Parts: sequence; C-alpha cells; structure tokens
Amino acid sequence: MKKHNFYAGPSILPEYTIEKTAEAVREFAGTGLSVMEVSHRSKEFVAVMDEAQQLFKDLLNIPDGYSVIFVGGGASTQFAMVPFNLFKKKAAYLNTGAWSKKAIKEAQSFGEVDVVASSEDKLFNYIPKNYSIPEDADYFHITTNNTIYGTEIKYDMDSPVPLVADMSSDIFSRPVDISKYAIIYGGAQKNLAPAGVTFAIVKNDILGKAERYIPTMLNYQTHIDKGSMFNTPPVLSVFAAVQTLNWLKDNGGIPEMQKTNIHKAGLLYDEIDRNSLFRSTVESDEDRSLMNICFVMKDGFQELEKPFFDFASSNGMIGIKGHRSVGGFRASTYNALPVESVQALVKTMQEFEKSNA
Ligand SMILES: *Cc1c(COP(=O)(O)O)cnc(C)c1O
Repeated sequence: MKKHNFYAGPSILPEYTIEKTAEAVREFAGTGLSVMEVSHRSKEFVAVMDEAQQLFKDLLNIPDGYSVIFVGGGASTQFAMVPFNLFKKKAAYLNTGAWSKKAIKEAQSFGEVDVVASSEDKLFNYIPKNYSIPEDADYFHITTNNTIYGTEIKYDMDSPVPLVADMSSDIFSRPVDISKYAIIYGGAQKNLAPAGVTFAIVKNDILGKAERYIPTMLNYQTHIDKGSMFNTPPVLSVFAAVQTLNWLKDNGGIPEMQKTNIHKAGLLYDEIDRNSLFRSTVESDEDRSLMNICFVMKDGFQELEKPFFDFASSNGMIGIKGHRSVGGFRASTYNALPVESVQALVKTMQEFEKSNA
C-alpha cells in the first residue's frame, strides 16, 4: 500500500533527493568512490559545498553582505551560538513554543533576557501580537514556525534591533525578505535534507561586536572564513541538501512551493473545520502553520482518537500522531509532500466521519 509520510522530522524528502543521494553513496562524481569516503577537501566535494551556498543565495535571493554556512550540532546548538556571537547586555525573545523556550534558556545564561510576549497561557496555540521590541536589546529572536504546536509567523516583521530567526521547519516554504534578518538558522531535517547539517545565513556586519572569547566552533566567523570547511562538514547531508535545492529550482522555486503549500494546507484545514469529529488546535487562520497542521478530536469524541489513528494507519498514513505535549494529530505538509497525500488524508477523515459520527 502507498505510504503517506506526515512525519514532523526527520521527514519526507523528494524522491529525486533520495535517488540522487543513493547513487552518490555508490559512486560519486566519477571518482569511483562513495560520497561518504572522499575527502571533504577533494575538488569534487568542494564543488558540492560551493553549489550548496550558491543555491541558497539564488533561491532565497540573499543580498550581498550575507554569508551562508553549513555546520553540525543541529538547530539546538544555534540556541547557544546566537548569544555567544551577539549578546552584549540584553536580548529580546518571543516565546511561541518548546523550541523558543529552549533558545531562551540558553540566552539566559548570558544575562538579561526580555521575553516580550508568550503564548504559553494557551498551550502555544496562537502567535502573540501587539508587543513591543525593546530598542536597547542586542537582538530579537523569533521561531517562525512552531513545529510542535502548528503556529507560524508567515511574514517578515520589522524590528528596530537585529532580527534572528529559527526557520528550521519553514525555510524554503515561502519567499523570505532576507534583508530584514541578521541571522536565520535551522536544522535541515524538516524541509531540506537528512539530519546532520544545520544552515545559518549570517549578515556579516553583525559579527565581531561581542567582547568575549567565543569557542572556535561556536564562532560564526570561523565557518564563514573557512567556507564551512574549518572542520569536516556533514558531507552526506550537504550532498542531499544540494539535491533537494536543485529539485526545488526545477519545480518553480520557492514561489511555486509556496503556492502548493497554501493549497495543501487549505485542503486539510478546510476538512478539519468541516468535519464534525475534529477541530484544529489553532483557531486563527493567520496563525495557522502551512507546514505542521495540528488537530484533535472534538469534545465528546475523544474516545475516537485511537480508532482514528488505527484507521488512518491502515490507510497508509504515517507519522500523524501529535507531539506528546499537544496530543491528537499532527500532519506535516513539507515541500516534498505531494498533494495526493493530503487528499488521501482528507478522504480518510471523511470515511471515518461517515462510519462514526
Ligand atoms: C526540530 C526543531 C529544532 C531542533 O532541531 P535539532 O536540529 O534537532 O537541534 C529547533 N527549532 C525548530 C523550530 C524545530 O522544528
């Protein structure tokens, strides 16, 4: 039976990425060797790293004055790397979920952190509005897509201080005005590549201002100066990322992805809103994520949670269990997820309603 992969991360990748990466695991760029067993300093792999940086720049229209780096450590290491590089006296953070909280915790060990607003009062089911960003903060940190709670900041905000964004789960899902950000970072395993590589897009002139020793590996400048080759980069993940980015480019680029993502998410939210058994955990359309769609059984139907999960599994739906802190269901609809998978889930929900309502 066809499997529909709704995992939140690691998550679905384009067939193209998997095919091309599998080929290169066997033989890479005419070397007669696997991509896993050639030097990262070989001309063949250096070309891959160069291509990764160029594709980021082209697809995201990254302006001059920014660098793109690829490192290990996951987005979670960036939670510390950001304050190491930018924190002087005070930082501002928006608390929109579990990942924001982890970022805040790391920053707090550097000094004063102003949490300008939080949606924790309602289990992070909305994006706070009407807060002000302190003008004396060294930077303002946001999580644009809250993978666990299904909320998303789908626009590029104005900030009076350098804006830093964790875009782990929505990078390449919509066009981004990079010039509004000082740093954008993310783990690759949601929308780009297998786990192992973390990207950071860094505005060069933001660096070099914090007066502290920054551990070499946590210093953005180290990786910028060495073209992400200061130490051994996660070669296989970088190779796979290049394949995904080429697939994206050949399929209309980010504007086309965004169009499809809006269509896919619309199909699923419409069904959740229509179906008498389910409700969305995020009420406001504006705040609803296009990447991670969370829903639960309506009041009075909670006992149908497990039966729906079993029915959906028997129809080939994989990875729709909600995060343990939210419960219910979460369907992740990343770039590589075909619209057919969303249609199959919608049909499953409709059939389940017919036999249970
Ligand atoms: C998954 C995720 C992280 C954690 O990423 P790791 O690479 O596992 O450290 C951080 N932020 C967001 C928004 C995520 O979705």
